[in-house]
Amino acid sequence: MIGYKKAVRSYQLCAEAINKLKSIAEKIGFSEFEYKKSLYYAASKKDISFLKEEYKIRKENNFEVSLLEQKSIKNIFGFDAPAAILSELGAQTDAYSFTHALHQHNLKKGTKVFDRVNITKIHHNKNGVILTTQNKKTIKAKNLIYASGYETVNFINKKIVKLNSTYAIISERYEEDNFAWPEEVLIWNTDDPYLYLRTTNDRRIIIGGRDEKFYNPEKRDKLLDPKSNRLETDFKKIFPKIPFKKEYKWTGTFGSTKDGLPFIGPYKSLPNSFFALGFGGNGITFSQIAAEINRDLILGKDNQNAALFSFERI
Ligand SMILES: Cc1cc2nc3c(=O)[nH]c(=O)nc-3n(C[C@H](O)[C@H](O)[C@H](O)COP(=O)(O)OP(=O)(O)OC[C@H]3O[C@@H](n4cnc5c(N)ncnc54)[C@H](O)[C@@H]3O)c2cc1C
Repeated sequence: MIGYKKAVRSYQLCAEAINKLKSIAEKIGFSEFEYKKSLYYAASKKDISFLKEEYKIRKENNFEVSLLEQKSIKNIFGFDAPAAILSELGAQTDAYSFTHALHQHNLKKGTKVFDRVNITKIHHNKNGVILTTQNKKTIKAKNLIYASGYETVNFINKKIVKLNSTYAIISERYEEDNFAWPEEVLIWNTDDPYLYLRTTNDRRIIIGGRDEKFYNPEKRDKLLDPKSNRLETDFKKIFPKIPFKKEYKWTGTFGSTKDGLPFIGPYKSLPNSFFALGFGGNGITFSQIAAEINRDLILGKDNQNAALFSFERI
């Protein structure tokens, strides 16, 4: 959709972001950011050619990947799939704890954090912005970064994201001796919607997917029971020998953009504002990219990657 060169650059930036996030985690003493391999498997035979093409392009651009055939997938990972790409570079974290660890680190350096404050009005003018809180207090700033997730669509006049509903379940904790997950890998597939499976560092298994193409929280929540049962069945089909006891189930909104890329940087009709909207399945890595681009633009520096994710592209 955006051309070979730009697509490759976007992949490279995500790969770099994983390494940068790891070094940030280390710097602030946050231990729950772990490198993991990632296995992307063909959900059916018809996806093999797509997967091979994807592998070829990643390989020719020096991503550390290998193409696995059915037999190796069975031998190494213990399940049936017609083909898969194994990527050496991936990572897993608890994004919520990571955010709190960053706040704690930054608080010591003088950053101020005001949680549970709802911004109800934002006024943009030539010299800056004035925000109003729910208690009618005002905050003035030279620049504002909108990092307010899906709520931000209310401020943008373009259709930038499609909101879907998504579901996930998590197992009870496994006993240490009883827990074998092949290579501790992150697993996802080529299905649409895709299915993903991973472990947590307290020895649980998370399974997610079964998305619905609508945004309607009430309707979404009503489907939670049948969807969580479907996810459990999906898991049992892949790993019939791993016992699975569901402990929690949940649902939420998931946003994706037409080209799979985030929206980062300024938006013309809202002066002195910058956006960090990491919509899509790579939102955490896109957030790291957004931090660098927005920092550079606010400081008046050039950033070569900014155009890739700008609002001007649509
Ligand atoms: C099911 C699912 C799976 C995902 N899997 C992955 C994955 O594997 N890898 C990956 O990289 N990413 C993944 N993502 C995406 C990733 O989780 C998100 O991109 C990331 O958490 C977004 O962070 P954020 O800080 O930009 O937004 P959010 O976490 O949405 O935070 C926005 C904050 O702004 C606050 N806010 C909004 N409006 C206001 C207001 N008016 N006043 C005050 N506060 C306000 C909200 O309360 C919220 O706290 C996944 C997302 C989902 C839903």
